[in-house]
Amino acid sequence: MASGGGLSDPVQYLKGVGPKRAGLFEKLGVHTIGDLLFHYPIRYEDRSQVKKIAQVEVGEFVTLQGYVRSFGAKPRGRGGRQVFEAAFADETGFIRATWFNIQAKALEAKFKPGSEWIISGRVEANKYSGAKTIFHPDTERFEGEESLAHMGRVTPVYPATEGLSQKAIRAATLAALDLAGALEDFVPEALNQKYRLPPLADAVRTAHWPGPEVSLAELADVKTREQKKLIFCEFFMAQTALALMKRGKTVYHPQAAMESGPELIGKIKQLLPFPLTGAQEKVLGEIAADMARPRPMSRLLQGDVGSGKTVIALAAALIAVRNKRQAAIMAPTELLAAQSHRKISALLEHTKVNTVLLTSGRTKKQQILDQISSGQTHIVVGTHALIQDKVVFDNLGMVVIDEQHRFGVNQRAQLMKKGDHPHTLIMTATPIPRTLSMTLYGDLDVSIIDQMPPGRTPVATRLFAQGARGAALHALRDEIRRGGQAFIVYPLVEESEKLELKAAKEMFEHLQKEDLADLKLGLIHGRMKSEEKDKTMEAFLHGKLHALVATTVVEVGVDAPNASVMMIEHAERFGLSQLHQLRGRVGRGARPSICLMMADTYPGSPAWERLKVMERSNDGFEIAEADLTMRGAGEFFGQKQWGMAEFKLGDIVRDFKILAEARKAAFQIVQQDPTLDAPEHHPLRRAMMERWKDRFELGGVG
Ligand code: ADP
Ligand code: MG
Repeated sequence: MASGGGLSDPVQYLKGVGPKRAGLFEKLGVHTIGDLLFHYPIRYEDRSQVKKIAQVEVGEFVTLQGYVRSFGAKPRGRGGRQVFEAAFADETGFIRATWFNIQAKALEAKFKPGSEWIISGRVEANKYSGAKTIFHPDTERFEGEESLAHMGRVTPVYPATEGLSQKAIRAATLAALDLAGALEDFVPEALNQKYRLPPLADAVRTAHWPGPEVSLAELADVKTREQKKLIFCEFFMAQTALALMKRGKTVYHPQAAMESGPELIGKIKQLLPFPLTGAQEKVLGEIAADMARPRPMSRLLQGDVGSGKTVIALAAALIAVRNKRQAAIMAPTELLAAQSHRKISALLEHTKVNTVLLTSGRTKKQQILDQISSGQTHIVVGTHALIQDKVVFDNLGMVVIDEQHRFGVNQRAQLMKKGDHPHTLIMTATPIPRTLSMTLYGDLDVSIIDQMPPGRTPVATRLFAQGARGAALHALRDEIRRGGQAFIVYPLVEESEKLELKAAKEMFEHLQKEDLADLKLGLIHGRMKSEEKDKTMEAFLHGKLHALVATTVVEVGVDAPNASVMMIEHAERFGLSQLHQLRGRVGRGARPSICLMMADTYPGSPAWERLKVMERSNDGFEIAEADLTMRGAGEFFGQKQWGMAEFKLGDIVRDFKILAEARKAAFQIVQQDPTLDAPEHHPLRRAMMERWKDRFELGGVG
């Protein structure tokens, strides 16, 4: 963040930090002294009272000062774990410390008899002897009274790494705090006053070295004024960035304005074989209004699987076409692109609107490319083949990205670059709780389809413990006998893709040999070639297979109207939103559908209770909200998709009120002062430039 006063110097400049430690700090993402100041403790321990050993009681968290009376390995216990034990003594008595599975040599060299230590940890009673013991205590050499600066107080505990001790981190942080005064508070004074936030430097100091007046309970709950300030700062920075990004996208561009009045919308609706749902009407209204403005639309459309996003995409495309501009709709797989194209061209059959399907195989056909570049083709539906260089549009005015999470930011941007500030509509079937979309997609306007087309029967969902597998398979067979088809989904965990794939193949073979020997099964997994995948999928769609065993969330959007059973193995390994997505693959036709979730857990366990939500609810947003609350933000999407939503101290679930305020404040500032030119915004501007370098056009640093 702020770079003045040596804050941008490498940590190595700090006393006591040599090249080796600097290397270890790198591992923690700490490069500069400033980084170190923002490397917050993960928790705090109360070491303000150094006790006499004779006074300690079982269950207490204590800090003691004593010398090593003895140290040694204990005979291996049951299970063969190596156990080491030390006895620490002071003038009142002695207490044991116990370590398991640890490098003997290193410990032995450390705990020389007679050496003096400060140790802290929770006192427990040994299971066998009842003797008081501290397991894996924190230990630091006692080096006179100054050691107590580290130990005899509320002490921060930091995220650490092998070879870098708590003590070393604390010492470095303490040294870095001398420079904290140089931290520039980028929150405008008016906001600090409004929310009663302390200056940034004070907040940082208190985070590392809370004084005696700070309540340990409040610290643990992340509720101190100082912590709130730091959280506000994190959210405020991210939201300012999002506000600037949004502004950058929606620049004034008169050519963007399209005629999209009620008459045109009425005509478009006449092309559809059904009336729009209320939710679709509302969303289409939002899109039409956006497209009428002289600024490119940048909108995220969220709607559950089956909620009817395709016709909305089509309507947006037709608005563009009517305004003599082309539209491109990009889907993540050939199958999905083909499916959308089929639906769209059927609806446009009696119109003069020309559509084409563009997938990688077909870009070789010069004729198709020529029709696109001459403007003869109005709507192009395709895969990422659309972003190839040889695909040139005459006048691209509308871009739709379907299942956006399957594309990278760059792929989206590349498609948008094929037009001159085209309107963009980004669609997703993953309902995202509001708090999360504020950070993940905070630079987009959001539309939500929160209603299903009429005539759908919700998928009846049942949870089975592993012991009840027979009953689940029975239900599956029953439905197939009645003419339905089944998906059997097996989770594929990324870290061990190979192993999981093996498991899925074995599962497939097992099912084919034993449980479902009389049925025709197909297998689909992520490592198959896409033609092979499509072939199996087609066979399934044409009813040539009874069941499809799938390893991943392949082809979420595929319409298989006859599929009426979804069996999910190891449901406990999936997030609820993912389960909801999977479940959405059935129940798309007239058949009442069932979802059988196998869970490797037992009724009453937290995992079981979490999955129970699936039995109760069919509402994607409700499920997503429950998922986010139960699992926390960090796990909601898995680690990878984070980006803007990654915070050190802030938690968008716990701190959603602060998030909302920070967002409001940031967007207001950017609206009033888009280049952050006002003197009171200069610190913010400097902080933005430093954090995000040249991602924003703010001009020179003021
Ligand atoms: P998704 O949002 O998952 O992309 P689709 O657009 O594929 O959903 O729509 C799912 C099905 O619902 C399609 O067969 C579509 O024709 C149908 N559908 C969409 N909107 C309506 C509506 N308003 N009334 C009836 N059926 C609809
Ligand atoms: Mg779709």
